[in-house]
Amino acid sequence: MGDLIKDKDSLLGKEVSLCGWVDRVRDHGKLRFIMLRDRTGQIQLVVKQGETPEEAVKASNEARDEAVICVKGTLRKAPTKEGVEVAVREMSVLNRPVEPLPLLPRDSLSAILDTRLKFRWLDVRNPKVTKVFLLQAWVAQKFREYFSSKGFVEIFTPKIVGAGTEGGAEVFPVIYFGKPAFLAQSPQFYKQFSVIAGLERVFEVGPVFRAEPHHTTRHLTEYHSMDIEVGFIQSYYDVISFVEGFVKHLAEAMRKEELPQRVLQEYNVEPLEIPGEVPKIPLRKAYEILDSEFKKHIPYGEDLDSEGEKLLGQYVKERFKSDLVFVTEYPWKVRPFYTMRKEDEPDWTYSFDGLLRGLEIVTGGQREHRYERLVENVKDKGMNPKNFEFYLNFFKHGAPPHGGAGLGLERITMQSLKLENIREARLLPRDPETLLP
Ligand code: ATP
Ligand code: MG
Repeated sequence: MGDLIKDKDSLLGKEVSLCGWVDRVRDHGKLRFIMLRDRTGQIQLVVKQGETPEEAVKASNEARDEAVICVKGTLRKAPTKEGVEVAVREMSVLNRPVEPLPLLPRDSLSAILDTRLKFRWLDVRNPKVTKVFLLQAWVAQKFREYFSSKGFVEIFTPKIVGAGTEGGAEVFPVIYFGKPAFLAQSPQFYKQFSVIAGLERVFEVGPVFRAEPHHTTRHLTEYHSMDIEVGFIQSYYDVISFVEGFVKHLAEAMRKEELPQRVLQEYNVEPLEIPGEVPKIPLRKAYEILDSEFKKHIPYGEDLDSEGEKLLGQYVKERFKSDLVFVTEYPWKVRPFYTMRKEDEPDWTYSFDGLLRGLEIVTGGQREHRYERLVENVKDKGMNPKNFEFYLNFFKHGAPPHGGAGLGLERITMQSLKLENIREARLLPRDPETLLP
């Protein structure tokens, strides 16, 4: 329909053939207007007694809200938003709702989120909601496009695993033929494996599972992670460059391509603003900035909290005209065991987070590739190297220096459209309460 409306001048007076859902009906007795909706747009259909063939008039009696219909007719000029309408010649009703609609797609955004999610198949038919997922698919496509162009190989790693990545409690156990197993909380071990196995540069787009009992607007228990891992780096700054390159690529494409423009316009948000030089602020400097600019105190050696992230986002937007900021050198204490510690300050690490419009969207860093040091790191975290033997073995036979990052697809979608709740950016969100639909 979108294409049809775009090409309307050349199609005027011609017969068109369309299928979709009935968005609404305005019935004036002998004259009936039906708004037909598909993924790409809406168009008015006109059924007029005396003008429209009898069969089609009869079919239109069944074309009520959310019926699935196909029509043929002539495209003509009309004083509608689209500038055209279709004078119906043939109509078939393929299916109709079997009960009153619990949520009208056209009004779904005025319902509370719980209701929208409960009847998500109706909610997503709302054109504004559909666009979230058109944009999300586009973001994932840009990710694949960018990293493929940089020589990264797409990998597909196991999601049923024998050990959690961080050894923490945030894993979902599953029973695997009588043996304990887990849902992968990150592709971390296997993307490192892939670099060590000689693929050198890899990326993956896939689900990850986190048994975080959080009730926040930025956590899901299942989300899509876009991961990279790259070998033969000089420092973790090489990883930052790749992530920065990707976000710039995304921001530029948002201004140039038709699809993101259309979606951003519907949400009334600006494309991402990313300057040539994206600010990079060591965490210890960020503590000072938050203290002096906002009287916001983060205890030395702790991670930023969500308010701290938001304020820092505000700061770089004003100061550097940037929606993105990298915070670097996190404390060893708050980073997982595979992170490389700073040579001169082992309580700090070669690591970073990227915040987009004041929310963490990416975490990355250089990994420890030296076997003995890695074993030390495991012990230093109070864990038993025996439990990670399968992973530590990868490092015994020539692991190159490497690093990588993981980006949250829903968080990027959410921040790009300024959605309030990450659940809006997931087709079927999972949280501690929600397993269905
Ligand atoms: P946070 O501190 O916000 O809870 P995290 O530091 O625990 O996130 P990482 O392990 O660093 O998360 O995950 C990498 C990226 O994956 C994050 O930067 C974020 O974009 C995304 N992410 C992490 N946890 C979640 C979640 N529960 N739901 C949605 N996205 C997430
Ligand atoms: Mg993180």
